[in-house]
Amino acid sequence: MELWYKEYHTPDVALCLKVKETLFSGRSAYQDIQVIDTWEFGRVLLLDGLVMISQRDEFIYHEMMTHPAMCLHPTAGKCLIIGGGDGGTAREITRHDRPSRVTLCEIDSQVIEISKRFFPEVACALEHDPRVEIVVGDGVEYITRCQDIFDCIFVDSTDPVGPAKALFQEDFFRKCHGALKIDGILVAQSESPTYHLDLMCRMKRSLLTVGFTHVYFYFAPIPTYPGSVWSWVMASKRYHPILDLGKFERHGWPEGLRYYNPEVHKASFAMPEYVRQALEGHDDLHNPG
Ligand code: SAM
Repeated sequence: MELWYKEYHTPDVALCLKVKETLFSGRSAYQDIQVIDTWEFGRVLLLDGLVMISQRDEFIYHEMMTHPAMCLHPTAGKCLIIGGGDGGTAREITRHDRPSRVTLCEIDSQVIEISKRFFPEVACALEHDPRVEIVVGDGVEYITRCQDIFDCIFVDSTDPVGPAKALFQEDFFRKCHGALKIDGILVAQSESPTYHLDLMCRMKRSLLTVGFTHVYFYFAPIPTYPGSVWSWVMASKRYHPILDLGKFERHGWPEGLRYYNPEVHKASFAMPEYVRQALEGHDDLHNPG
């Protein structure tokens, strides 16, 4: 008897993965947590029935979440991750020698524990890198109380529902802006250009409103995510994602990457025409070309 996992991306579109085995199924204080082993994508972490990471394509997501900002910022000494409990974003940041501290604020400690147990190759930095400090708590509360100031902030959250909803809103972006240094960079996963273009427009307007100078989206293929193309938004106080790349002494590109490289960096910011037209309506708040 065949066992299939099905995730509805819309009421009329679903992703189906043939399942070898269910490795874990439980519920934390915040969400259902499952780990399934699939024939095509290896182990898959599900939160509330939605794909978070798969062993086969998580490298694309986590490399593209982190290296564009890490390779653009001249120091990237102090980094903050909001969400990211699977550890993949922390793993990629700690490939760079320059960060002295990486703080990860994850609301659900069980996601961290399950990731360490079933995805040790993803959660490795959470276990072994002394620069990584884990805070279990709500990212909104953390950024509100935080007295610290960062070079880069990465928002690696679930979709904008439940506890993650506030992580897509203007007030949170304003607090991130205040917690960044004068040349700081914020990166947030900004969902699917296929299904969530209106959200991307709202995020752009909010980020420009709170004072970021450069707000640009970039893209990469994530086969297990809705629409199979994913987006991130880079909101920068000073550096343009393309024009300022490579301006600083070459701190080099980290070793061992499988997706990100200098050509991919530039190409990923190329804007599909339907996205450009939708977003340009929000340029009136100043986004120098
Ligand atoms: N790559 C995935 C994606 O794009 O959907 C995200 C993966 S990561 C597991 C998302 C994490 O965000 C989850 O572990 C969830 O518990 C966490 N999260 C959601 N809302 C949060 C909040 N308000 N503060 C901190 N962490 C939060």
